[in-house]
Amino acid sequence: MTDIKPILERALANVRLTADECTALLESHDIAAIGAAADEIRQRRHPDNVVTYIIDRNINYTNVCNVVCTFCAFYRRPGAPDTYVRTIEQICEKIDETIALGGTGVLMQGGLHPDFGIEWYEDLLRTLHAKYPTFQLHCFSPPEIHNIHLISGLDYETIMQRLKDAGLYSLPGGGGEILDDEVRKRVSTKCTTEEWLDVMRAVHRVGLRSTATMMFGIGDDVSHRVKHLQRVRDLQDETGGFTAFISWTFQRENTALGRRIKDEPTGIDYLKMLAVSRLFLDNIENFQSSWLTQGLKLGQVALRFGANDMGSIMIEENVVSAAGAHNRADEKMLRYLIREAGFTPQQRDILYARVDRMPSVPDQEAVPESADLAALLS
Ligand code: SF4
Repeated sequence: MTDIKPILERALANVRLTADECTALLESHDIAAIGAAADEIRQRRHPDNVVTYIIDRNINYTNVCNVVCTFCAFYRRPGAPDTYVRTIEQICEKIDETIALGGTGVLMQGGLHPDFGIEWYEDLLRTLHAKYPTFQLHCFSPPEIHNIHLISGLDYETIMQRLKDAGLYSLPGGGGEILDDEVRKRVSTKCTTEEWLDVMRAVHRVGLRSTATMMFGIGDDVSHRVKHLQRVRDLQDETGGFTAFISWTFQRENTALGRRIKDEPTGIDYLKMLAVSRLFLDNIENFQSSWLTQGLKLGQVALRFGANDMGSIMIEENVVSAAGAHNRADEKMLRYLIREAGFTPQQRDILYARVDRMPSVPDQEAVPESADLAALLS
């Protein structure tokens, strides 16, 4: 096993890590040393000891999907009896609820509907933007943009410019999974690695920001994970458009892939991936803790493994919860977990700008009810 001490020393001396060094870190079992280095880099990038979170919700406008991903428990084939498309009234109702809780935006994604051309998305955005002009519409993902490209015959940049003009605020990094076609082609018929990266390039070219994601444990090994990180870092060097990196582990319940795959990433694997990505992706500012998939306790520990953001309170989430991630938290709970990890909690918006709403909300610094804590500790 490679001695990782010199690698961590180089990272702490702000020397960019190579792919081989990234591999050595991911193969190492010394997660305490890797975590400490990632925590040190996190502290340098965010010296005010603040950990952020966002109040928003996921709205899934449709579960109809034209492709097959064996890791997905959410989609329904076109024509299946339990398909749905949310109406504009239903979406507005969800946005109103979010605003009432102090929310600043919404993450809206759906399956790849075979009948929705660009006009459908433009109409949706225009209607929402007209009704909620300051509410941030963080919507769609590279596979959905690629689907619009297939249906409407437009190039990615034209699509992104039109969606931006219609009110799109930013793009979630969904559908990244593992950015290596050897893995992607085994588990999904959606867009390729190059297409995912090309959509993101177009997003950044029209002046929008996006996040980058990784879902691992879908048959990938360390070499695929390193290639994924390298591709994200290269694109970030080119465009600077990624606001954050978010990784999580495959959730197997109710999925075809889950019945086939024998092993799955552990808590140690998750923490190591988070910490190594903080060290390797030296050009990305924010790293999110995925408490939704890892549980609240591990999600809290992640704050000492390179994460500076606790993600969303997730008023609603349908995709990973369909695959077995049932963790829930409200704002008070997230603030409590952040404080108990030694940080100052701070609400943010989708582009990581701070939202100064807390002083007007009286009971947010209270310790959560004992029933909520019992659920946390169960
Ligand atoms: S992950 Fe997305 S693209 Fe894949 S089947 Fe599910 S809804 Fe469709």
